[in-house]
Amino acid sequence: MRLVVGEFTFAAQRVFCIGQNYAEHVKEMKGEISKRPVIFCKPPTSLVAPGESIQFPKHGDELHHEVEVVVLIGKEGRAETAEEASLFIAALALGLDLTLRDLQRSLRQKGLPWEIAKGFDQSAPIGSFVARDEIPDLSNIDFGCRVNGQIRQQSNTQDMIFPIGRLILEVSRIWELRPGDLIFTGTPSGVGPLRIGDGVEIESPALGTFSWEIV
Ligand code: ZN
Repeated sequence: MRLVVGEFTFAAQRVFCIGQNYAEHVKEMKGEISKRPVIFCKPPTSLVAPGESIQFPKHGDELHHEVEVVVLIGKEGRAETAEEASLFIAALALGLDLTLRDLQRSLRQKGLPWEIAKGFDQSAPIGSFVARDEIPDLSNIDFGCRVNGQIRQQSNTQDMIFPIGRLILEVSRIWELRPGDLIFTGTPSGVGPLRIGDGVEIESPALGTFSWEIV
């Protein structure tokens, strides 16, 4: 997928995702707050543009929405400090980390990797990008998720356990960053099921409103 930010275009590279980054969501998942961010990846082919319909996956039953603020990396290299990390941000967007919760639950119990529960085709719908300069405060972005018009998730990036700068720092310790990399920064509480025929809408005053239909 081509990621467009004003007059610039990036080819999507890696899709990094952060798990368990909002305390209330960790609680609803009956997890424990970890000392370092939980990081996993989705293939870049899992990205879905706004308006495309999303096929309910055939290999699981419980498809959950997880609305997340997404960071687009615009610079190559590794960040050494959280301050330096902010220089790697080209733009932000809203996205969904679609998750087959039934599968994830059984994989977690067995200590197995999560890819088939979180990295399947169309598991990463994403809205359009807003340039970094247009967002005054990354730690104060309101965002939420509605299903068939009903509010399911409503939060603000100030509730993150690890703020965006720290996430970039942690990811870049392991992977040298490249322009076109994306980081899904974790979901707040209120995750829940999506069924065939549902319309899912993600919205943020700073990042826009985008919707998809589950078919
Ligand atoms: Zn997530």
